[in-house]
Order: sequence, then C-alpha cells, then structure tokens
Amino acid sequence: MKYRLQFRRYRLPFRGAVRTAHGVWAEREGVIVRLEDERGNAGWGEAAPIPAFGTETVDEAEEGCRALGEWTSAEVIAGLPARLGCLRHALATAEDEVGRGFSPAADVSGAAAEPAGERRYLGVAALLPAGRAAIAQIAPRAEVGFRVFKWKVGVGDLADELALLDDVCAELPSGGKLRLDANGAWDRRQAERWLERCAERPVEFVEQPCFAPQGAALRGKTEDVLLGLAGDYPTPIALDESLVGEGDVERWIGAGWPGVFVVKPSLVGDLVGALARLEKAGASVVFSSALETAVGARSALRAAFAWKGEPRALGFGVWPLFVDGRFDGPIAAPFVRVEDVERINPEAIWTALD
Ligand code: MG
Repeated sequence: MKYRLQFRRYRLPFRGAVRTAHGVWAEREGVIVRLEDERGNAGWGEAAPIPAFGTETVDEAEEGCRALGEWTSAEVIAGLPARLGCLRHALATAEDEVGRGFSPAADVSGAAAEPAGERRYLGVAALLPAGRAAIAQIAPRAEVGFRVFKWKVGVGDLADELALLDDVCAELPSGGKLRLDANGAWDRRQAERWLERCAERPVEFVEQPCFAPQGAALRGKTEDVLLGLAGDYPTPIALDESLVGEGDVERWIGAGWPGVFVVKPSLVGDLVGALARLEKAGASVVFSSALETAVGARSALRAAFAWKGEPRALGFGVWPLFVDGRFDGPIAAPFVRVEDVERINPEAIWTALD
C-alpha cells in the first residue's frame, strides 16, 4: 500500500501551566501526520512525545517524517525503528483510518454511526492541581458528578503534601476515590511513608511512586523497589512512566505486576500489540491522556472504548487544555460518550495548523 505523507509540527500553549514532578509544562509540542492513499482516503495521527518519560523528542519525530519522504508505504512505515514509538503510533493511527475508508469529502458526522465496541460511555477522572489548590476544586466537581479524582503529588515538600492528604480526602464525595500521581518523584523511603498513610484512606491507587528512565543504571533496582512496594502495602500501585519503552508492557506482565497499568496510547509504539498482551494477562488498565491534541486523543479514546477488560475511569479529565480551543477534545465531564469521540474532526485540526 502506497501513501502520500504530509506532516505539520505544532506548538500550542496550555491555558494554565501543568505542574508535575517532571517540572512545569507551559506548552505542548508535537507533530500531526496525514496519510492519503491512491484512492483519496485520508487518515490522521499525532506524535506527541514526552521525552521525560523516555520517548523520542519532537525533533526526532519530525526528522523521522522527513526521512520517510512524501511518498511512503506500509512496508517502509513498518520498518521504522522502535525508538520512534510516538511517530510509529501516529502513523499506525493514520493507516488505520485510511483503511476505514475515511474520505475528507464525506460528511464527518456520518462516522458516529459505527462505534468500535459495546460501550456507549466511560467514566472520567477529574484532574486536580498539585498542592493545596486541589482542595477547593473537589466539591464543585463532585457536584457535577465526578467520583474519581486525580491529585498530582511529589511536586512540593513531602511533609507538606502528606499533611494535606486528609484535607483532600475529607472533600471527596461519598464513595469517591482519590488517585495519587507522583510521576516517579520519590525514593523507596518516601514512597513507604505515603503508602503507609494511604492504607486506610479512599485511595484507589498510587501512580508511579518511583522511576528510573530506560538505560539508567538504577533502572533494575527501581523496578525491584516497585515490585516490593506493591507486595508490602494494601493500596495498589500503578505504572505509567514505566510502560513507555519498547517491550516494557511485556516485561512487567512477565514480572507478574499485581497493580494497575496506566496506558497513554499516544506513547506506546505498538499499541495494538501491547493491549492484546494486557488483555490476555487479565490486566487492570487505566487509559490516560498524554496532553495531546484531539487528534491523538481520538485514537486513544477509541482504544479505551474497544477495551474488553474492566472499565476504569479514564485519565482524560484534561479539557479545556489549550489556549486555542480548536485543539481540545470534549470538555471534561464525569462521562465521555462514544459519540463525543467520533465527532472529533481531525481534518479541522489539520486545517487549523495550516
Ligand atoms: Mg501519571
């Protein structure tokens, strides 16, 4: 199969800076790709790398597009190096869409007629800001129906954040759950202090308490620490940063990981393969945003709707996200409907980047 490849690099400021243990993030950079086959069917995909997670850089993704050239083929795309995981994901998404016979000339709303799976809607977790600012944001979101809340930790002083935990939990609605995301900020002792404190509180899981990127000398040791923590404390632990590299999902399944797998579809090179392995292993999976535009989010949410395992609240409570709202997905609500996903128009975003 031959394709014409076009790509557009973007740089989009966030409405508010995103603070995580990786630092302050003010704008999103990435590359949108467009493939067209000889019959005029078109498909889009998004490479939205997060180098702090161990992905390629945006420069590398763009360079990868240049190297492919204007005319490429399924065989050449399949031969892209594993290192370019985000670009491979983008191209696979675009190829899938070309294969569905999407024609830009047709009425886009017609696409909503064929959702991928049985589910019509999925729950969404509300994303809270780091630090004390989280507390005031819980009640208004609980009022509109959110029941799962995600709080970024590992950003400020450990004792200060730990002291806030009870105040945050006190604001949760009845039956509400809190997810903590440390983005790998803690060492073993710090993680233990948190996990001890979480034990009798409504904490659904603690995400990525410790992390050493691919290639780091301490990587194996850090992974042993995570497995140890998962065995020692009742609160489940979720992997996020740990799952981005080629073969990571397979390795953690092989290690018998008992916790949750947070999958950011935009960062997983071979998403179809990774999800098939997780499904076979009966893994607990949370689908999550990589703060990509609606092009990448559309593909990620389609994967979430097609997932046959237990549905858990999506980590997609991120919109409105960009200063330019044309690049946002559906505004964060306690549920996202399959129609909302199918209504996203990648061609409009492509055109907006012209
Ligand atoms: Mg995370």
